[in-house]
Amino acid sequence: MGWLRHLRWKLFVSHLLIIVIGVIVLLATAHFLAGTQLTQEGQLSLGESAAETGKVTAASQPASPISQQERFQTVVDQGLLVAAFAALAAAVVVSLFVSRRIVEPLQELSFTSQRLARGYYHERTSIRSDDELADLSQSINQLAEALEQTEQRRLALLADVAHELRTPLTTIEGYMEGLIDGVIAPEERIFTMIQHEAVRLKWLIEELALLSRAEAGQLRVMPRPMRLATTAGQVAAQFEPQFNAKQVRLVNTIASDLPTIVADPDRLEQIMINLLSNALRYTPAGGVVTLFAQAHDFFVQIGVRDTGIGIAAEHLPHIFERFYRVDKSRARQSGGTGIGLTIARHLVYAQGGEIWVESEGLGHGSTFYITLPVHDTVAIAA
Ligand code: ADP
Repeated sequence: MGWLRHLRWKLFVSHLLIIVIGVIVLLATAHFLAGTQLTQEGQLSLGESAAETGKVTAASQPASPISQQERFQTVVDQGLLVAAFAALAAAVVVSLFVSRRIVEPLQELSFTSQRLARGYYHERTSIRSDDELADLSQSINQLAEALEQTEQRRLALLADVAHELRTPLTTIEGYMEGLIDGVIAPEERIFTMIQHEAVRLKWLIEELALLSRAEAGQLRVMPRPMRLATTAGQVAAQFEPQFNAKQVRLVNTIASDLPTIVADPDRLEQIMINLLSNALRYTPAGGVVTLFAQAHDFFVQIGVRDTGIGIAAEHLPHIFERFYRVDKSRARQSGGTGIGLTIARHLVYAQGGEIWVESEGLGHGSTFYITLPVHDTVAIAA
């Protein structure tokens, strides 16, 4: 009876039921009336004739077919009338039943979707049927679930952003109050600290703007055939002074004979800057950061390996989530926002690549990998 799960079959069966009831009642009534009225009258008419004359008279013969026809007509009319009433009664009962099974769930679904539209994302439907309405109810529940999760993420993001903005502002406010009250001496060191916090605030806002554009899919990424070694060389040269200042050695081993990749040079530069600044930030003096790349059949794998603080296994799956920082106070001191890797992941995905991290654990350094498609593969595929 699986086919009865479908609404169209339920409606068809209900219509069929009304027809069947009508036909059965019609047959039964016709049978009954024919059995009582037609044969009774016929016998009576013959009995009367025989008693009076002993034979069927010629005068009575023309009257008999007319009355017989009239009686037949009456039987048909009455039969149809009774059957029509029976079918009507059946239609009322069946449609009441069917409409309760269809209209009530529809009203509930409509009520739930209106509540969802008004922002009550915890609302769910509970329709106990086995047809398309149950499927629709399940879809609405899934939609509600997705909306609720999005809302929770939005609230978490708002809370995170508020927290991130409050921290540097509180520091600036504290210094300014101290300066105004004369508790803190107006020294260059203090102004440098205030400036540092202001720069951090600006950087955070720029990162947030970038993240929101990346999450909305509005970051313009224009991949084209390009040489990885050129971009890697430029970024490494740009970082050289900062690495030297912190006494961390930067080694670039990316060879120029690698296959041409398909990527957006500006976006790739942005990703490498994020990875290299993290490597520098989390590698103490005396450490080494190595840039390397390896060609595969369809892609080139780029790596940034450092001998820094490393990442414990439990943090590895979360490292690309927005605002995720292993050591919040340490990252904040060093200017970390917890957004850089989230942006890097969006940018890599937008260019058809992959990004992941490997680390042997705390104190064993980390290696970040990205892959980008090779130009020839794209040409062949196209
Ligand atoms: P942040 O601006 O805080 O560095 P990211 O999104 O770039 O934000 O990184 C998220 C977190 O991942 C960092 O706070 C840090 O805990 C960890 N992390 C990133 N890169 C490294 C690295 N090279 N070595 C150790 N930990 C890292």
